[in-house]
Amino acid sequence: MKIFILGDLEGTAGVVDFKQQTYSDAKYYEQAKRLATLEVNALVEGVLEGGAKEIWFLDGHGPGGIDYELMHAEVQMIIGRPIYAPWGLDESFDAFFLYGHHAMDNTERGVLCHSWSSRAIANCWLNGELIGEIGFNAAIAGSFGIPTVFISGDDTAIAEAQGYVPNIVSVMTKRGISRTSALSLAPVKARELLRTGGRKAMGKIDEIEPYTIEPPYEFITEMRDEKAVNAKAEREDVERLDSHKYKVVGETLIEIAQRR
Ligand SMILES: [Zn+2]
Repeated sequence: MKIFILGDLEGTAGVVDFKQQTYSDAKYYEQAKRLATLEVNALVEGVLEGGAKEIWFLDGHGPGGIDYELMHAEVQMIIGRPIYAPWGLDESFDAFFLYGHHAMDNTERGVLCHSWSSRAIANCWLNGELIGEIGFNAAIAGSFGIPTVFISGDDTAIAEAQGYVPNIVSVMTKRGISRTSALSLAPVKARELLRTGGRKAMGKIDEIEPYTIEPPYEFITEMRDEKAVNAKAEREDVERLDSHKYKVVGETLIEIAQRR
């Protein structure tokens, strides 16, 4: 079994603050990365117990969300920027895991909720439906016929994932109180659950359908700052819709991911 784990930092137990923990200049950034890495390692243990033979981990947090030095020995890491979807993902993988994820922007109680960029982007729509990283990335995996079998994060991230994959295996690391506060598990408890959850998800690969969205695709982005749209609108493949919104179209989600 060959497994692809897409990781982020905002869904880790104990992580609740952009300025203090997840931005690269945050005072507790190194600690947050360490917490995430130890959670990923626990998840990897479970995935190995469940029969995985090859595991790829993509560090999906913009400035980096992993302490590479502590990473589990049995994982290959996709690191550095720039990096473009599908990040080496192809039909040879058996399952897709979402580690440490967060809900889309403007989600009530969504801990560190945002859509791709907490500072720049307000909302995104794919074919008319609001979408964030969870749905979009699950659909990219689905376009290769790969099921998204696992998510960890706060309760709102899990609810969002269940909207696309009702029987997804989930580990709730914290319950959202607001965008920057939560009732969180202790890190050691989260690791216990991640190990068990990883093993359980491996056993459900055959039961979970790949999540797919039919082409063609139309992706609309609403920026917080109207000036950011000016630069985008100069491109030939971008259509400006109003002061803050622009649209790209494509026949594949990979095209959308590269153009949006
Ligand atoms: Zn992130």
